[in-house]
Amino acid sequence: MSTNGKVHSVELDNDIRDVTVIGGGPVGLITAFWAGMREASSRIIDSLPEIGGQLTTLYPEKWIFDVPGHPRVLARDLVEQLERQSVEQFDVPVHLETTADRVEYEPDPHDPERQILRLVTDHGDLLTRTIVIAGGHGAFEPKKLPGFDMAPWEGRGAHYLVGEKAQFLDKRVMIVGGGDSALDWVVNLVDTARSITLVHRREGFRAHEATISEVMQDAEAGRVDLRVPYQIRAVTGDGRIEGVTLFHSETEEEVEVPCDAILLQLGFKTALGPLKEWPLEIERGAIVVDPLMRTSMEGVWAAGDITTFDGKLKLIATGFAEAAIAVAQAVHHIRPESRLQPKYSTNTGVPGAVEGQA
Ligand SMILES: Cc1cc2nc3c(=O)[nH]c(=O)nc-3n(C[C@H](O)[C@H](O)[C@H](O)COP(=O)(O)OP(=O)(O)OC[C@H]3O[C@@H](n4cnc5c(N)ncnc54)[C@H](O)[C@@H]3O)c2cc1C
Repeated sequence: MSTNGKVHSVELDNDIRDVTVIGGGPVGLITAFWAGMREASSRIIDSLPEIGGQLTTLYPEKWIFDVPGHPRVLARDLVEQLERQSVEQFDVPVHLETTADRVEYEPDPHDPERQILRLVTDHGDLLTRTIVIAGGHGAFEPKKLPGFDMAPWEGRGAHYLVGEKAQFLDKRVMIVGGGDSALDWVVNLVDTARSITLVHRREGFRAHEATISEVMQDAEAGRVDLRVPYQIRAVTGDGRIEGVTLFHSETEEEVEVPCDAILLQLGFKTALGPLKEWPLEIERGAIVVDPLMRTSMEGVWAAGDITTFDGKLKLIATGFAEAAIAVAQAVHHIRPESRLQPKYSTNTGVPGAVEGQA
């Protein structure tokens, strides 16, 4: 599996790691970095096929202006830099398309006085001394098209995510949906694709007014073919998508549209999923943590969008700081003799990672 050109595996490793991070969003990535800085081993799992969480799934091509130290940074680029800083520097295993299911406690084979955790996933078990949950809003799943089964065309021209705009270079692209993400992608791909058809089953769009008027201007200028209220009746092609039959939602009148790629932007379902069954204290869909980012489960901390506490802010910057606290606590739990306060990186460099560091 490739993310930003690098290979991550679905195969699970057999080690007992110090920290297993559930979630490969920005906060999960930086959790693995903080672990590396404390010379703790870690791994990351994520149910999605790519790292980056919401940044990759929902807004890879948007500028972020409030990550300290970056006057502005593209979401996709921030994920790439986090990957370099954490996964690459510390050689962290990343298991994608792997969902955390449940946790069991068992004696540490090296020290039966202590407990380790067995994280049961849909691909097998992972042994770990601690867990940091950085699961955001939970496991993401793109919403499917109602009334038409697109599954046979997935991987053959039907997409739910845009990894790289170049995937659509010079293609005849049909974007399906009427919300912000569909219209944002019309605007973002209009200069990349050979042609764009926007299909929505209703007349009206539910998106920012400025984006709607930009799309309308593109339609008037002949740069976007607007098909509303239309729906997909059939997809044709020999191995890959070559055309789509649309029908008018009211009159049922059919129209054939040549097309190489369909981008379905119908939103995402997010759900705590299996984590809901864990003995965690949950409040309004989020995990309650104390000021030490401790959850109600022994050996399990949490950070990022998935947590709730008084004064909680759902921001990347605050998630990074929560991760630092969670890792300091987790490492202290594993090695009670270690100090909570990390040494300054200006003094230590990156332990065992970057050539030429002190
Ligand atoms: C359109 C938009 C714009 C935004 N703009 C900004 C901004 O400008 N500045 C800012 O600071 N924030 C912004 N945010 C919010 C920011 O994206 C979040 O705060 C951030 O993504 C939280 O990071 P996270 O790692 O906690 O969670 P996420 O990014 O949600 O990542 C969580 C990951 O955990 C995985 N996961 C969940 N459950 C499981 C499980 N059981 N097993 C395996 N994997 C699991 C998910 O698949 C997901 O990949 C924006 C959000 C949106 C939607």
